[in-house]
Amino acid sequence: MQFQTPSILAINGGSSSIKFALYSMSDPVDRRMYGVIDRIGLKDTTFRSDDLSGTVPVSQCIGTLDHRAAATFLVDWLDKEIGLDLIAAVGHRIVNGGVQHACSEPFSDALLLELRRVSAWAPEHLPAEIAMVDLIRERRPELPQIACFDTAFHREMPNVAKTMAIPRRLTAKGVERLGFHGLSFAFLMEELERNAGAEAARGRVILAHLGNGASLAAVRNGKSIDTSMGFTPAAGVPMSTRSGDLDPGLLWYLAQSEQMTPQQFNHMVNHQSGLLGVSETSSDVRDLLDRETTDSRAAEAIAMFCYQIRKCIGGFAAALGGLDTLIFAGGIGENSPVVRTRICQELGFLGVDLQAVRNDDGEQVISTDASRVAVRVIHTDEEIMIAKSVRAIMNHSSRPSE
Ligand code: ADP
Repeated sequence: MQFQTPSILAINGGSSSIKFALYSMSDPVDRRMYGVIDRIGLKDTTFRSDDLSGTVPVSQCIGTLDHRAAATFLVDWLDKEIGLDLIAAVGHRIVNGGVQHACSEPFSDALLLELRRVSAWAPEHLPAEIAMVDLIRERRPELPQIACFDTAFHREMPNVAKTMAIPRRLTAKGVERLGFHGLSFAFLMEELERNAGAEAARGRVILAHLGNGASLAAVRNGKSIDTSMGFTPAAGVPMSTRSGDLDPGLLWYLAQSEQMTPQQFNHMVNHQSGLLGVSETSSDVRDLLDRETTDSRAAEAIAMFCYQIRKCIGGFAAALGGLDTLIFAGGIGENSPVVRTRICQELGFLGVDLQAVRNDDGEQVISTDASRVAVRVIHTDEEIMIAKSVRAIMNHSSRPSE
């Protein structure tokens, strides 16, 4: 497959997947290709890609690949199919930019060093993301690579929301609520403005990104004023396999009663909890909905998920002083009318009134015309936000200095 003009490569590496997309350098809304390597670390790692120019969709099982091997596979495949020299710049979603990084920036040696230093605190994401940057540097050292931080969207949160009630000396070291899913939230706000106008985007908005990882953000005047995830993505509402917020005393209790080590605790709250932990069968909402009438554990897991999200929406509405728009996104938020209904029931007091047919059809607006709160479903797109950031930085750096 050949493109006549250079492309931007957007890489969105998750804990078990790498999504990638190619955009035209001159028009980053022009997506040329999209693909994903899924089930990384499992025995049936799969590779899929859609060539949006209309030919060859590819889907193949590629064995059992760890992150480094999956990254190598992707770079080799891109080199063969497109040619690495036709890629003008690469943007990477970097899950954790800490307290320092409020916008996207090119990878420098210093930035890479800093990320390596903090990668132990984001073991699910950062090591794999850094491995991908290293690999591309080895293959094409001169190719510009840009870091797009998922934490950047929340950097201007007020102190009252950012600060954790722990000794100040730890806050001074950067231990605070960072928040994540920032690329998705930024995209949702852009889409809200495009679809509903600037006034709606300046209003009191709650964004619910509900995928395997799930978090909510309270946004006013286009700025994040609070978010459910914390210093790590394990905090907030329950997720597929992450616990969300817990009693901090649990660590000590389990250390005493089960001799649980910090490593085991970390593994439990990230990989064995949430929907999987409560249902004991699956982390996937589709599976749980299928069996909820015959398996009370599945029903309880879904009920807990919806209840905690509803509670978070109530809390954020209080933080915002009311609510104008509620947006659902992510695999669950975009695709499950049942979950949306259950989250929104009891929210009538806030002015949320869902319209059943619109909700079932997953329309853009799923609330009634009379609903005081506009409830929307938006298909999120983190890759396009990466491409836009890369283009902005590349254009800026190619401008002659004044
Ligand atoms: P990630 O956070 O890994 O990017 P996604 O945003 O793709 O994940 O969300 C994945 C989750 O979306 C799945 O685990 C599944 O629970 C849920 N999901 C996808 N389609 C549906 C559907 N039709 N109904 C209910 N849940 C769905």
